[in-house]
Amino acid sequence: MGFRDIDRHSFYAGKPQPSPTSAGHFESIDPSNGNPICKIFNSPPQAIDAAIASAQSAFPSWSSTPPIERARILQRAVALLREYNDDLARIETLDTGKPFSETSTVDIVTGADVLEYFASLVASGGLNGESFRLRPSASVYTSKEPLGVCAGIGAWNYPIQIALWKSAPCLAAGNCMVYKPSEFTPLHAEYLAGIYQKAGVPDGVFNVVYGAGEAGSHLTQHPAIAKVSFTGQVSTGMRVAGAAAGGMKYVTMELGGKSPLIVLPDAAADTAADVAMLANFFSTGQVCTNGTRVFVPRSLKKPFERALLDKMQHVRAGDLFDPATNFGPLSSRSHLEKVRGYVRRGIEEDGATLLCGGVEQPANLPAHLKSGYWIRPTVFTDCTDEMAIVREEIFGPVMAVLAYDEVDEAVRRANATELGLAAGVVGRDIDACHSVIARLEAGITWVNTWGESPAEMAVGGWKKSGVGVENGRKGLEAWVRNKSTLVEMSGSVATVFAKL
Ligand code: NDP
Repeated sequence: MGFRDIDRHSFYAGKPQPSPTSAGHFESIDPSNGNPICKIFNSPPQAIDAAIASAQSAFPSWSSTPPIERARILQRAVALLREYNDDLARIETLDTGKPFSETSTVDIVTGADVLEYFASLVASGGLNGESFRLRPSASVYTSKEPLGVCAGIGAWNYPIQIALWKSAPCLAAGNCMVYKPSEFTPLHAEYLAGIYQKAGVPDGVFNVVYGAGEAGSHLTQHPAIAKVSFTGQVSTGMRVAGAAAGGMKYVTMELGGKSPLIVLPDAAADTAADVAMLANFFSTGQVCTNGTRVFVPRSLKKPFERALLDKMQHVRAGDLFDPATNFGPLSSRSHLEKVRGYVRRGIEEDGATLLCGGVEQPANLPAHLKSGYWIRPTVFTDCTDEMAIVREEIFGPVMAVLAYDEVDEAVRRANATELGLAAGVVGRDIDACHSVIARLEAGITWVNTWGESPAEMAVGGWKKSGVGVENGRKGLEAWVRNKSTLVEMSGSVATVFAKL
């Protein structure tokens, strides 16, 4: 497989399908310096319809392929993902602005793990139904049936990982997919289609269309789409779920968060600062589960802030392919402006104390990167629950430290949000940690760590942060529907009608 940054067109029926120039195009931009990488041609409605049609024609054969054979093909894709890990990571770094030290160790690795997990699961009975004797003359059996043609819509922060977390269980369960990446990070999609094809996934099983909201809207509202798996903002997710409900489509919604991290009074300040760093600055803060509201006991606030400031010295912005770089730019100019707006608001309107950071570019940024979308990692302290920087998802490297007096008070304040994606606790007394976790309203929780999301662990948000889960055994259930069959074996069907 050759990796090249050439212009992209829709990919369906097993090959790139040139769009008419009248459909328009957009550019993929390298966020580290603002330079264009290549053109992406929008998929007009006819191309989206054709991609869906190609998935429809592939469905009968793919869905009736025995799970163990599908698994064998998908395992070959896992091997290819691992073989080309660094090439794919380079593409993700160019497209997203994440340092290669991250993309080469996390993004493709965690995507490949999920594909391996679901391939193994369906090969080992994960799609088996159940059967039981209802009475001596009758039995019931159930089967897990694929849904049909499904739409995958991705956000820009973990492009290939999101594409894999959606397509892995979808394809393993026997469905076909039409996938639309975010227009900000589209490069991975054709490479993933190529990997599936090289592994032996039949043409039409995995297809790619490009474009912004209108393309996503056309795709998800198409009557042939059985399910929409969406990752993105709460506001977009509500629109997409509303439209899907109109067509009685299945949905999985992975949406935004404003997650709390509660540091308990017995926590070591140093450990708490480590977890808070992980929960706020990985991927330059562009992680849906980030723990941006850090509740710290008033008595621990000063040592915690000192430990944090010490650790901030180790955040290194710079050339994204330098192994020492662990902090990249934001993903786009519009996102940079949004995050800067929140930092300004925190200083000027909210009146929070700026512990470190600000709207400027990181110090010592090399000259050739100054045209990129960089901002400093920022910590606000003395925050209150009413501040915009505490209430709204910023999706950037902006931590808010909130002091508390009683643990019950911290739990109540942590839960006082419409969102419920993730939450976490740091402390030495593990019983106390569990007791707090039990009271936190969130679908993903961590104790004394943050962010790890292995293939075996089902993840999904509560409240407005989402519907359903991805990964784990439950993640497979989201891509099948149940069929129950009752078999009568007595040879005589006694009904009231027999007496008539
Ligand atoms: P958006 O909601 O802006 O976009 C998500 C995707 O939806 C994009 O591909 C977008 O296209 C597409 N889209 C936009 N409008 C429509 C529509 N009407 N119908 C169908 N699709 C549409 O989210 P972002 O890309 O800005 O992603 C960031 C958000 O994603 C954050 O809120 C973050 O918390 C959340 N997220 C949640 C995760 C989770 O697992 N819970 C994981 C990762 C991110 P385009 O971009 O091309 O316009």
